[in-house]
Amino acid sequence: MVVGYSRPTKITISQHAVTHNVNEVRQATGARMIFLALKANAYGYGLLEMGQAAERAGVDGIGVAILEEALALREAGIAMPILIMGIVDPKYAQVMAENNIMATVSDLAWLEQAQAVMDGRTRLLINVAVDTGMTRIGVRSQEALHELIDYIKGAPDYFVYQAIMTHFAESDSLNNDYFHYQLANWERLTAGIELPPMVHIANSGAAMYHADEIPTDVVRVGTVVYGVEPSRGQVRPANYLEPVLGLESALVYVKQMPAGVGVSYSHTYTTHAGEWIGTVPIGYGDGLSRNLQDFGVIINGQRARIVGQIAMDQLMVSLPEEVPVGTKVTFIGKNGGLENTLEDFSDHAGLAPWVVTTSLQERIKRELVD
Ligand SMILES: *Cc1c(COP(=O)(O)O)cnc(C)c1O
Repeated sequence: MVVGYSRPTKITISQHAVTHNVNEVRQATGARMIFLALKANAYGYGLLEMGQAAERAGVDGIGVAILEEALALREAGIAMPILIMGIVDPKYAQVMAENNIMATVSDLAWLEQAQAVMDGRTRLLINVAVDTGMTRIGVRSQEALHELIDYIKGAPDYFVYQAIMTHFAESDSLNNDYFHYQLANWERLTAGIELPPMVHIANSGAAMYHADEIPTDVVRVGTVVYGVEPSRGQVRPANYLEPVLGLESALVYVKQMPAGVGVSYSHTYTTHAGEWIGTVPIGYGDGLSRNLQDFGVIINGQRARIVGQIAMDQLMVSLPEEVPVGTKVTFIGKNGGLENTLEDFSDHAGLAPWVVTTSLQERIKRELVD
């Protein structure tokens, strides 16, 4: 991985905001254990930076999607429980067991194949997935559930029946019909089933809006902790959260232009007389959508529009006046009296916040601040 430590472009992660948002989840749910989803490079925020922020915020466990994300966290010295929420090839069962990583299981064949590669001396923590209507992973009947649990309990040298989960397809909308349909399925499928130490069904929407209807002893959240209101303020005003992510850079080149000169590829923008044009070292190669042409970045507390096509590594902004090289350019965050939120930024790009942030490349350095 190549990281641009020498250039001014960076993502900032606010420790203060992460701690605040985790406390909001704790307050809304009374959860004993909060698992934070750090999959996909922590929604693009930065896996290790968010892992560290999570530890300091008192998070109790981490959810990831793939084995390497879990191993990277263990290598960085993070000792808290880690759950892989996706399906890992059972040939890695022994590696997961040795690293104390919890595996998610949806069928009997997985357990049989895992057992075949395990030495029977280190036990693997098992999280049983129940499909209540997401139609992604998980068992769909009580018979299958019984079968899985019996198998796990019948192989105590290999497996520990540690957790059971389901995942909601819709928990952050004003219409709760599908949420209640899935909840009823959950109650039907788990009725009379022996429950393990961890029962976790709440993502952000379920945790923040439905805590009184569901088990919240353990919750599994991402969105709210990253500072994004799951319903965009529709179900609950967004002001209970603090924004976590900042994106900034600095001017590396500034020049005054005559009128009528084309800027960047395809000349989609033409200068006016005396216009000051600044160049910023960030581009679509860093994951910026090219739809962000015309977005107003903030420089010295004033908005400056991105002009011309965004190139792979650089973009140009139209400056209100001459501004020195080295001046900070804020894409997401506060600058002077102005603020660009992640939501403003992603709305301008015409993309969901998580499509925008998971696109932010690893070559952008990340910094944990406050
Ligand atoms: C990503 C993910 C979460 C977190 O979801 P948010 O809506 O961001 O809180 C929870 N559970 C699973 C299985 C996930 O994949």
